[in-house]
Amino acid sequence: MPLPRDVPVISDPVILARYPFLPQATSLTQKLALENNITLEELLNSPRMEETRTRGRLRLIESMQNKGGVDAMAMRDIHTEGGQMLESFSYSYARLIVAASEQEVLMSRWAQAEAERAEKLLAVDEIALPLIAETYIDQLQRKKTDEIDSEMNSEKNIWQIGMVDFIELCTKITGERWRLLNHNVKKGWVDLGDRRMASAKQLARLLRERIKQEILQDVKNRMAGVTDELAINLAEPLGMVTNLMQRVSSERLEMSGVEQQDWPPCMRMAVNELNSGVNVNHFGRLFLASMAATIGLEVEAATAFFENAPDFNPGTTKYQIAHVYDRGYTPSGCSKLKLNHRCAVQIGDDRLCDQPWLDHPMKYLRAKQRRRTQEQQFAEAQSASSKEIENDKGEEETPSQTK
Ligand code: SF4
Repeated sequence: MPLPRDVPVISDPVILARYPFLPQATSLTQKLALENNITLEELLNSPRMEETRTRGRLRLIESMQNKGGVDAMAMRDIHTEGGQMLESFSYSYARLIVAASEQEVLMSRWAQAEAERAEKLLAVDEIALPLIAETYIDQLQRKKTDEIDSEMNSEKNIWQIGMVDFIELCTKITGERWRLLNHNVKKGWVDLGDRRMASAKQLARLLRERIKQEILQDVKNRMAGVTDELAINLAEPLGMVTNLMQRVSSERLEMSGVEQQDWPPCMRMAVNELNSGVNVNHFGRLFLASMAATIGLEVEAATAFFENAPDFNPGTTKYQIAHVYDRGYTPSGCSKLKLNHRCAVQIGDDRLCDQPWLDHPMKYLRAKQRRRTQEQQFAEAQSASSKEIENDKGEEETPSQTK
């Protein structure tokens, strides 16, 4: 079902910041960015945007942990410019991380959580509801009591939506309430609401489905714009989210297929040392276990790293590793690893580790991984084009051979 061709104008910055996924919200984000000199670089790295990044990470954490979606409440007064900036840019930041993940599961979980948050707010937001409903639903109208001939609904005002929209949006909602049979339908219009669920609440629930679809599509479209530099910059928060997701979900995320050749030298050093019976210090062991959790290795695979350790005890090691997985520890950054003698390189040993931006092993891993994927794609494209050339040659030679 197509979206309405013309979306209503929404100029209230509170609505735009509260519902930052709206197509109309782009103008507010652009305005705030311009007036406050917020560039992508600022958003990703500047100390003044730290609170925004924290809120962005929180949006993602809540999308994994909360059954009811992202926490509906803003962290600051949304009627102030500071509050509007926090909500708008934290959404943009979270969306960047999700796009950089290239993981459908994560995208879907996040879109679902943001949509659930919107539903909660919209169910009680009389001002925003009509505007947002008109943004996403083409056939929509409100009827007053005297025009309603239903016994099912005792409300003064009810929402009606076109039957095609209703059927499309209901397909993924379970329960008798969402059957067309249990609604009044007249001339293609479906009355929303019944004795147990107010009309506005039903509309907000239907909107949740449409909003989820739109957020998902938006983040998928943005995936193509994620550069190597951006993906590497976001490796650490992405690792945190991935780790958390492994913990709370049966759907495993595997950092888009990390392979052993992508591991940073510090991780390889820890594995090799343990393998040869060296007694790696507590910091090194914790680092290895948290890296294993973050890249999506099974607990058994992580336990196997420790099999040759001098003090190896299968039960205790597995218990300790499971604890690291459960707590969702994120791997330490390069400066801490260096301080604890767990960095594996000196200047000049590894070109990637020498890069000024390389301050976390997850960034190393992401950079390697993206480079490998690009090389694979290039090799595949080359082999496809040489096959085409060979086929063309074959076709050109056939007539002369038959002469
Ligand atoms: S520079 Fe960082 S990523 Fe490279 S080996 Fe040292 S700690 Fe690991």
